Amino acid sequence: MTSAGDTADVVILGAGPAGLLLGNLLQRDGIDCVVLERGTREHIQTRARAGFLAARTVQILRRHGLADGLNRDGRTHHTCEFRSDEGRFRLDYGGLGRGERHTVYPQQALVSDLLAHYLDAGGRIRFGTEALAVQGAEGDRPSVTVRAADGSPGRWRARYVAGCDGRHGAARRSIPADAVRRHHLDHGVTWLGLLANAPPSLDAVGYAVHGRGFAGHMARTPTVTRYYLQCARDTRAEDWPDDRIWDELSLRLRTDAYGPLRTGPVGQRGVVHLESDVLEPLRHGSLFLAGDAASLISPSAAKGANLAVLEAELLAEALIDDLTHGDSAGLDAYSARCLTHIWRAQEFSHWMIGLLHGRPGTDGEARFHDSLRRSRITALRDSRAQQDWFAEHYVGV
Ligand SMILES: Cc1cc2nc3c(=O)[nH]c(=O)nc-3n(C[C@H](O)[C@H](O)[C@H](O)COP(=O)(O)OP(=O)(O)OC[C@H]3O[C@@H](n4cnc5c(N)ncnc54)[C@H](O)[C@@H]3O)c2cc1C
Repeated sequence: MTSAGDTADVVILGAGPAGLLLGNLLQRDGIDCVVLERGTREHIQTRARAGFLAARTVQILRRHGLADGLNRDGRTHHTCEFRSDEGRFRLDYGGLGRGERHTVYPQQALVSDLLAHYLDAGGRIRFGTEALAVQGAEGDRPSVTVRAADGSPGRWRARYVAGCDGRHGAARRSIPADAVRRHHLDHGVTWLGLLANAPPSLDAVGYAVHGRGFAGHMARTPTVTRYYLQCARDTRAEDWPDDRIWDELSLRLRTDAYGPLRTGPVGQRGVVHLESDVLEPLRHGSLFLAGDAASLISPSAAKGANLAVLEAELLAEALIDDLTHGDSAGLDAYSARCLTHIWRAQEFSHWMIGLLHGRPGTDGEARFHDSLRRSRITALRDSRAQQDWFAEHYVGV
C-alpha cells in the first residue's frame, strides 16, 4: 500500500536485470531510490529466459562486486556447432575475434543475486505494485501512479523515473507517440522455446538449419537445456507434447548422422515471435528507458539481457553524476550512447535470423533466400575473416 507521501529521487519500474542492477548501483552511491515490481518475488526469481552472458556483462557485474554467484556457478562457453544440408562444422569463437567467451548463467539466478545484494544493502523494493502511468515527465517532478496487488491506488513522486519494465510496461506507454520515433520489425519467424529437464546433448551451442525449420540447442545447467524449434506462427505451446518435440528436434538436429539427444521431461515451454522494436530517443524529459523497455531484440543472438546490463550501468553513472555533482552531461548523452550499442546488436541479430531461417514468399523468392542462407553458412565455415567478424559480434555488446 502506498500513500500520497511516497517519494524517492529515482523511481525504478521493473525488477529485471536492468532495474535491479540500476537499483544496486544507485543504492551503493547513496542515491535514494525504490524499485516497483508488478510481479511477486517468486515470479521474478523463477522466470527462466536468458542464459548467455557476454564478456562485457560479466566484467560489469564483477566491477561492481555483483558476480559472486556467476563466479561460483557460471560456466564459460566458447563453441558453436552448425548443422545443415552441407554437413556440420564447429566454430571455437573463444579463439577467434577478440578471444572473448560467454558465461552460461541462468537469468533467474542473476536476478536472484542482484535482488539479494540490493536488499542486503538496504534497498527498497515493492513487489505486487504495478506502475500504471508516468506523469509529468516533461517537468522535473515526475510521478508514477500505481496499483497494489489488493487493488489500492497510489502515487510515487520522483526526480527521475527509470523505465526498466520491459516492452509492455508503463514507461513506454507513457511517452506520447509524437515524442519518440519507433522502429519496429516483425521478422516473420516464430520459435517454440522450451526448457528440457535433461543434460545438454552437445558441448556447444547447436544451430540446425533444416528444410522443416530451425532448431537450436543451448546449455543452461548440467541438468537443464534450452531448445528452440521454429514453428508456424499460429502454433500454441499445448500443440507440442514431449514426444512431438523430441521427434522434431532429433530430425532437425540430424541425430541419425551426429548422435542422439539426451532427452527428459520438457518443463516450461512458450511461443516467441521474433520481433525487434527500438524507441528513439530513450529519454522523455525526466523519464529514461533501459533494457527491453528501450529496445526489444529477438533472442536469435542472445543480446537482450546483455544490453539491459550495459544500459543500466550507463544510466546509473549518469544519474549519480547528476544527483551528486549536478553534472547532467551523462544524462544528456545517455540515449545516443545506448543507441550505438543497440543498433550494432540489432544488426547482428538480424544477420543471425537470415543465417538460420528461410523466408516465406513466392517459390522464386524462397529459393533465393535459401541460397543466400547456404552461402552465409559456407562463408562462415570457410572464411577466417568471416569467423573473426562473427566471433566479435556474437559475444560482444
Ligand atoms: C525465451 C527467451 C530467451 C532469451 N535468451 C536470452 C539470452 O540467452 N541472452 C540474452 O542476453 N537475452 C535473452 N533473452 C532476452 C532477455 O531475457 C531480456 O532482454 C531481459 O529480460 C531484459 O531485461 P529487462 O530488465 O529489461 O526486462 P525484464 O527482464 O522483462 O524485466 C522487466 C520487469 O518489469 C516488470 N514489469 C512489467 N510491467 C510492469 C509494470 N507496469 N509495473 C511494474 N513492473 C512491471 C516485469 O514483471 C519484470 O519483472 C531471452 C528472452 C526470451 C523471451
